[in-house]
Amino acid sequence: MVSRVIPVEPFDLVVFGGTGDLARRKILPALFRRFRAGQIGPDARIIGAARSELEDAEYRDFAAEAITEAGYDAGCDDDASEMLSRFLSMVAYVTLDARGDTGWDDLETLIGGPHPEATAERRVRAFYFSVGPGLFGDLAERLHDHGLSDAESRIVVEKPFGRDLASARELNLVLARHFDETQIYRIDHYLGKETVQNLMAVRFGNMLFEPLWNSQYVDHIQITVAEDVGVGGRGGYYDRSGAMRDMMQNHLMQLLCLIAMEPPAKFDPDAVRDEKLKVIRALDPVTPGDVVRGQYTGSDGRPGYREEVGDPESTTESFVALKARISNWRWAGTPFYMRTGKRLRERASEIAVVFKDTPHSIFGVEGGDHRNILTIKLQPNEGIELGVTIKEPGPGGMRLVDVPLDMTFAEALGPDSADFPDAYERLIMDVIRGNQTLFMRGDEVEAAWAWTDPVIEDWQTGGEPPLGYETGSAGPDDALMLMHRDGRRWRDIKA
Ligand code: NAP
Repeated sequence: MVSRVIPVEPFDLVVFGGTGDLARRKILPALFRRFRAGQIGPDARIIGAARSELEDAEYRDFAAEAITEAGYDAGCDDDASEMLSRFLSMVAYVTLDARGDTGWDDLETLIGGPHPEATAERRVRAFYFSVGPGLFGDLAERLHDHGLSDAESRIVVEKPFGRDLASARELNLVLARHFDETQIYRIDHYLGKETVQNLMAVRFGNMLFEPLWNSQYVDHIQITVAEDVGVGGRGGYYDRSGAMRDMMQNHLMQLLCLIAMEPPAKFDPDAVRDEKLKVIRALDPVTPGDVVRGQYTGSDGRPGYREEVGDPESTTESFVALKARISNWRWAGTPFYMRTGKRLRERASEIAVVFKDTPHSIFGVEGGDHRNILTIKLQPNEGIELGVTIKEPGPGGMRLVDVPLDMTFAEALGPDSADFPDAYERLIMDVIRGNQTLFMRGDEVEAAWAWTDPVIEDWQTGGEPPLGYETGSAGPDDALMLMHRDGRRWRDIKA
């Protein structure tokens, strides 16, 4: 069962930072896959832009390599090769400096300057800011100076969106000078994941869950985003950021919002984002006792965090776990435990909604302790699993076991489900379609920073270094205590 492909309108997409890592690994392969699926027609134009001096042909070679590296075998037959050539014929390149004048006239010439007034000739025009965040403001200014920021243009802004409330506010203001909020697409690629959207479908498309979705029936919620790799080559960037800024403020916060929000009146961008914003605003400040930060140490011949980033004094956290409380009618009394980190046991991300015990066990001691758990798995395999309690088969007494009702997409929806578009495919197509539902609004981002800033400030003024944890563990022991002291435990980190 694969989704129906509805072709998008012809568009011009300029990828600033077109020679960078993100363009290579994600954006170009995503565009090709949508072309191959028939969603992007031959009238589209994809224009890479960066300072490197490249001819169109050289950039097409770069794009072809990127697509091959992403797993496409253009050499397997003539059709495959023809498909790639047709895609590459839509690709062009402009040498351009976001901070200078170089190349802007060329870009203007290529895409035709300000939009022509004649309706028939209007094309969707999107500018993807896949450059360092220090250039977002420059790009917005230059697009404006060259008459390219008209009402039809859209900009796609990568993360990080600021590093605290003040910088996020400033960036929002800079962008707002030339672009209306309806033209700004702030990417959080977690929102493009199939399962994350399915979370909304499961919650709001079924009668089953919503009546139970509150503190009366839900004991607690756990959100885990665990990586098994360290900072690797991103050390420099990561050390200025840390797990709180890099993951908690955006990805985990977005997951929390989708789990906790009230049903929007309709599935439209502002209705959904209004509800998410209310969740963030209802979060209590995190008290110092409710947050644990850690940093991985070296073991088994693998370097520790400090060695990897080349700073023996670094106090940047590669792990954070915290207990969040939402003060509203639905959630007062149900804690949300969230953790994320690098070099943990496995690469595994999930949300677990842990329901309360039944009010009374008619099965006595033999029945044991059982709870329903709804698990939304985000990686490595996406899917949803509901743990239900049944009788252990066999003639022995009334012993109970938990079994999963498994809705792993690859199994439930057949082999084609493995072809679900990845997050970038979906999000870029949403930009072209003009649908902002899965993009963060400016006020949401600011509210998320307003919640995380005090935690980071506390660390900075407190002077306590992060706690060490071993590679392959579940983080520092204190993170386990965060739940143990409440009589709860984290779920195993397993793929
Ligand atoms: P990158 O590999 O360092 O690439 C940066 C790109 O920007 C290059 O194409 C570079 O090309 C171009 N550039 C630099 N200065 C420029 C200037 N003055 N004018 C025009 N172009 C300029 O970075 P990246 O990893 O692709 O990341 C891009 C953005 O995506 C960043 O905001 C990053 O935080 C975000 N992001 C990346 C990832 C990822 O997996 N890579 C994931 C999430 C978010 P030239 O040097 O030729 O100009």
